[in-house]
Amino acid sequence: MKPAPFAYAKARTLKDAVALLRRSKDARLLAGGQSLIATLNMRLSSPSLLVDINGIKGLDRIVKKGAKIEIGALVRHAQALQSDIVVKHAPLIALAIPHIGHPAIRNRGTIGGSIAFADPAAELPACLLALDGDVVIEGPRGERTVKAANFFKGLFETALGANDVLKAIRVPAAAKDARIAFAELARRHGDYALVGLAATARAKGDALADVRLAYFGVGATPVRARKAEAALARGALDDAVAALADDLDPPDDIQETGAVKLHLAGVLLRRVAQQLAEKPA
Ligand code: FAD
Repeated sequence: MKPAPFAYAKARTLKDAVALLRRSKDARLLAGGQSLIATLNMRLSSPSLLVDINGIKGLDRIVKKGAKIEIGALVRHAQALQSDIVVKHAPLIALAIPHIGHPAIRNRGTIGGSIAFADPAAELPACLLALDGDVVIEGPRGERTVKAANFFKGLFETALGANDVLKAIRVPAAAKDARIAFAELARRHGDYALVGLAATARAKGDALADVRLAYFGVGATPVRARKAEAALARGALDDAVAALADDLDPPDDIQETGAVKLHLAGVLLRRVAQQLAEKPA
């Protein structure tokens, strides 16, 4: 199918993009187009104006600012994977990216697009939550920062307003004692996950502290499994797996029943616990 007719405008700056969005009630931003163009072609959405942000200078930068890593909205998934800064200081993101679609999608798809689109089965929103990261937003009233925990509001719903542009994400640079882990189950490699898990912790002797488990594919948004986190910090893996029944309530979807997803969440927790326990090379 072909998309419904739309007007096209190329933004030169972030402020320009915000002003263009304000011009039309149903304008949409175009980043990598890997999700948006499909929804247009299927006529699941028919905006009257597309605001292309690909020409905005500086949005494709990855920088280390003190103890934070800032990844610009237009950084492509493939670019992030090739970045020494990401690999060294934000290794959870580097672990997750190879699970996103296929090389062609990762060459065009952007970090900002993945976070803004907020697919409930997407990898990066869960990584951002596990890392306790921030989203930097440019809007009609200037710049603001929203914590990942407050950013994902519901199914494809975020703290972004209609005239906001996601500018960058910020995550803490991995500390020396940081442990990270990532695992997902999908029917085929490159498919959206049935269930996935992004995890962070700190090594405390032989134990773990500050465990954060962020599941995806189990609800409308990425979900923290807080009782399981506490059990894992006590070293009680079986208790942690059992606690998932309290932490998660995955709905049935076209891929699987909620009961199977809950079982898979336990399988992933055992894999991730093993990764967290291993000292990085
Ligand atoms: P676009 O498609 O350009 O935009 C997506 C949405 O986000 C639009 O509503 C747009 O207006 C909005 N948006 C984009 N950028 C911004 C911004 N800076 N500020 C505010 N709003 C913005 N993703 C996964 O996470 N995991 C997968 O396994 C996966 N598999 C895929 C398989 C296929 C076959 C395809 C086609 C896509 C897949 N994707 C997957 C999606 C891919 O990661 C997309 O790149 C991503 O979801 C959106 O990024 P984009 O840059 O392409 O955004």
